[in-house]
Amino acid sequence: MEAKDFIRSHIIEDLAAGKHTKAVTRFPPEPNGYLHIGHAKSICLNFGIAVESQGDCHLRFDDTNPEKESQEYIDAIKRDVTWMGFQWAGQVRYASDYFDALYDFALQLIQMGKAYVDSQTPEQIQQTRGSFTEAGKNSPYRERSVEENLALFEKMRLGEFAEGECVLRAKIDMASGNINLRDPVLYRIKKVAHHQTGDKWLIYPMYDYTHPISDALEYITHSLCTLEFEDHRPFYDWLLDTLGTPAHPQQIEFSRLNLNYTVTSKRKLKKLVDEHLVNGWDDPRMPTIAGLRRRGYTPESLRDFCERIGITKSDGVVDFGLLEFCIRNHLENTAPRAMAVLNPLKVVITNVEEATLALTSARHPNLPELGEREIPFTKEIYIDAADFSENPPKGYKRLVVGGEVRLRHCYVIRCDEVIKNEAGEIVELRCSADLNTLGKNPEGRKVKGVIQWVSATLGMPAEIRLYDRLFNQPDPEAGDNFLDCINPDALTVVQAVVEPSLANAQPEERFQFEREGYFVADLVDCKPNRLVFNRTVGLRDSWGGA
Ligand code: ATP
Ligand code: MG
Repeated sequence: MEAKDFIRSHIIEDLAAGKHTKAVTRFPPEPNGYLHIGHAKSICLNFGIAVESQGDCHLRFDDTNPEKESQEYIDAIKRDVTWMGFQWAGQVRYASDYFDALYDFALQLIQMGKAYVDSQTPEQIQQTRGSFTEAGKNSPYRERSVEENLALFEKMRLGEFAEGECVLRAKIDMASGNINLRDPVLYRIKKVAHHQTGDKWLIYPMYDYTHPISDALEYITHSLCTLEFEDHRPFYDWLLDTLGTPAHPQQIEFSRLNLNYTVTSKRKLKKLVDEHLVNGWDDPRMPTIAGLRRRGYTPESLRDFCERIGITKSDGVVDFGLLEFCIRNHLENTAPRAMAVLNPLKVVITNVEEATLALTSARHPNLPELGEREIPFTKEIYIDAADFSENPPKGYKRLVVGGEVRLRHCYVIRCDEVIKNEAGEIVELRCSADLNTLGKNPEGRKVKGVIQWVSATLGMPAEIRLYDRLFNQPDPEAGDNFLDCINPDALTVVQAVVEPSLANAQPEERFQFEREGYFVADLVDCKPNRLVFNRTVGLRDSWGGA
């Protein structure tokens, strides 16, 4: 493993010092939503370290809030981690696998006089916690005897109290400068079924209590988390020291990923889904891994992105353009080329026969191994309406009345006549081809423009979904409501015509549509008789490199 960041350096030192025989990390999502690009950073770090150091990385669901969690999210998270190219060591683990052990540890804390049942209301507990400047106040129930606490905790477990009537708290120090050490809550009553344990439990452990113990039980060596958990580390250490667990993982914090024009909070992303502002968690506008996948991003591009942003302790905002750079970079060198006409305008070539001319072209200019595809040329073709102008601006290099342009991989054509409908709209162009220009320059003149085209008779209709950024503000979370800066033009659907070689495009097959950008056959909706492509990204940065 290379010491490319402070965490890897730390682990290398620990291994060299013989503290551990191998590094064991974990990725601990809560199954309360789909993973987003921020999680990709954590996945690449935790699984990356395991791969690079021949260690292990566990996938553990931190499932302590059953009412917000579901099997759908569990399945989606497993799918996303696998798709990212990683494999967890052993079985999938769940914090709920440890509910019995966690309960026994709670009994141990009570017996040690380190935990008590507090019968204050949640409001009272909140009000007596103090603030950054003011110490908290001891609960009137803090000095209950071990026997009384054991009896009350047992009643909590049996469901003899109502939700909110009491909690189990650690007994540490209500005057601690660290609020997380002011007798944190360990267990609360929740009379809800759990997706893994069913009706077995009516009390559930808190995340801050569950996480260190789960890490210790799995013999995690390095517990890597984001900076907001720095203040929780003293409790992490207090708990494992107090219990004397055989393993005491080291928590190390790093800065979370913030990406401009994006929200990375499952709660906010869920709001977009619940309010039908997007079409589900995997909507290609979403910054979820499933959404990015459907948008056409590759695992390689996401891993490359995480590699480039690196791991530090300083908070910053990464430009969305970097993510786009990474996918462009990958697809430039891998995606076959094809022609697609997004805004079709019919062109009749007056001087050729009805018969088809079988032209071919390389699928990729630098990858001969991808072979060739056929691009049949026919008497009627489509070009993009934007490639013709009746009133061309200065320097316009595409088709004009009386002017010439080259059809990509084909002839030079001249526009002889414009056909309009009654409303005065252009419906067709009549053109003639210079039949002596296949693969060579026309004689006696230069033709600069090259435009895309597709056979009108053999081309395939396709729905093309043009995606743009979901938010039109660099920091959607700056204002009162992030929903106010949703970009209403983040999706435009057009009916296009694509070259016939795309007739069998498979879901997730990616292409560069020449001059238009990179596109992917939609994972869900693209079928043999109904082609659907999503624009992953344009060919160039159209956002001015913000
Ligand atoms: P969210 O606020 O979106 O729900 P979370 O941190 O609550 O995020 P978890 O499911 O608890 O989500 O996260 C699993 C792991 O992913 C944690 O270790 C967490 O620190 C990490 N993680 C979450 N968001 C980011 C981010 N933006 N950048 C880096 N790591 C992240
Ligand atoms: Mg969380």
